[in-house]
Amino acid sequence: MSEIDKQKELFRKSKELVPGGVHSPVRSFKGLHTTPRFFEKANGAYIYDVDQKEYIDFCMSFGPLILGHKNSIVEEALHEALKRGWSFGACEPYSLELVDYLLKNLPHVQQIRFVNSGTEAVMTALRLARGVTKRNKVIKFNGCYHGHVDSMLIKAGSGLAGTAEASSGGVPEGVAQDTLILELGDIEGVKQCFKDYKDQIAAIIIEPLPANNGLLIQPKEFLHFLREICDQTCALLIFDEVISGFRVAFGGMAEITGINPDIVTYGKIIGGGLPVGAIGASKFIMEHLAPIGNVYQAGTLSANPLAMVGGLMTLKQMNKKSYETLGIQTKKIVDLLANWMIHFNDGQFSQFKVLHFASLFWIVPKDEVRKLSDIPSDITEGFNKLFEELLNRGIYLAPNAYEVGFISLAHNDEVIRDLEHRLEHRIQ
Ligand SMILES: *Cc1c(COP(=O)(O)O)cnc(C)c1O
Repeated sequence: MSEIDKQKELFRKSKELVPGGVHSPVRSFKGLHTTPRFFEKANGAYIYDVDQKEYIDFCMSFGPLILGHKNSIVEEALHEALKRGWSFGACEPYSLELVDYLLKNLPHVQQIRFVNSGTEAVMTALRLARGVTKRNKVIKFNGCYHGHVDSMLIKAGSGLAGTAEASSGGVPEGVAQDTLILELGDIEGVKQCFKDYKDQIAAIIIEPLPANNGLLIQPKEFLHFLREICDQTCALLIFDEVISGFRVAFGGMAEITGINPDIVTYGKIIGGGLPVGAIGASKFIMEHLAPIGNVYQAGTLSANPLAMVGGLMTLKQMNKKSYETLGIQTKKIVDLLANWMIHFNDGQFSQFKVLHFASLFWIVPKDEVRKLSDIPSDITEGFNKLFEELLNRGIYLAPNAYEVGFISLAHNDEVIRDLEHRLEHRIQ
């Protein structure tokens, strides 16, 4: 029996019982020549498959685990929380503690509401923006991911600047038509949309650090421009900081750029690996939500006490020093990977560069990528070979060329020495 036969069998069974064998598409290893790994446990920077093979994890649950897997302080607090009960469907003090902590550290936000995922946060942010402005259209940028909200699953269509059509089955044409889509950095396009759809644009939504179709680092000037045009037109600026919030700095890209979005969405790190999303804005905007305002929003499990504790105990461990440490460790890891790729197997992977920002990195055969169309169209095949080579060596990246890598505080010097060792030798 080969070492992964057991996992092949699990995937075969999964495919019968679950569409495509997975509960989220990127987990399916589509296009790869190996079966998805089934992980049974994790600790620190390491994750273990059901055959007990150990991997250094650079996927980290796609971002939430900024402290690494199974951080002991979070773990202990979760055990205590479990003993108290795990869902009340009523007011409780735990979410208040988390809100209080967040507001003390996020000067651009006055009120917060919790939901259960980043998608839910975006869905609410869009409804809220439309409710506040009494306008329907929203500008979105190609290459930014905002979860699987109907109106965000769109691609460029033909016609006037911004015209969109659905990129997914099941999204009604009418819904797609209320979203305008533009290329990142397209200042003229944004201006044109505000002319063509005068007084109809409720909001511009952007990932201020787009990190879901590679890492498309934006010049600050572009983000400042969006802030200005929203001010001039009374449209709202929505920063989707589901990935960048608490990752690039505690206050995310809003803190780094000094730009105050009107509405901000959070997810991922805010729950420390438990399902939490959040919408934040001024008191004026937030009080448009039910039960005060007429914009409806609700959730049976929202502000789940266990998830609130997971989030609070994760965020409380993040400070200036931890972000500095993450930056230093990321640089070491990025240099190590980049150097290995240049030299490995007579330069088999020497086309690749490692772009990085704070503790996010992206492996791509190009030096500078600012928008979707800058990405070479044929990156998948080369990436897949690299992914499989690293996987064999016990190094786990997110299994797709367009996904970024995540460094956690558990990726310490000892892990980096281990990484170096794994790159030099093949550990079976
Ligand atoms: C992950 C992500 C989402 C979706 O969050 P889910 O919790 O997966 O629903 C939305 N926006 C951004 C920027 C994200 O990175």
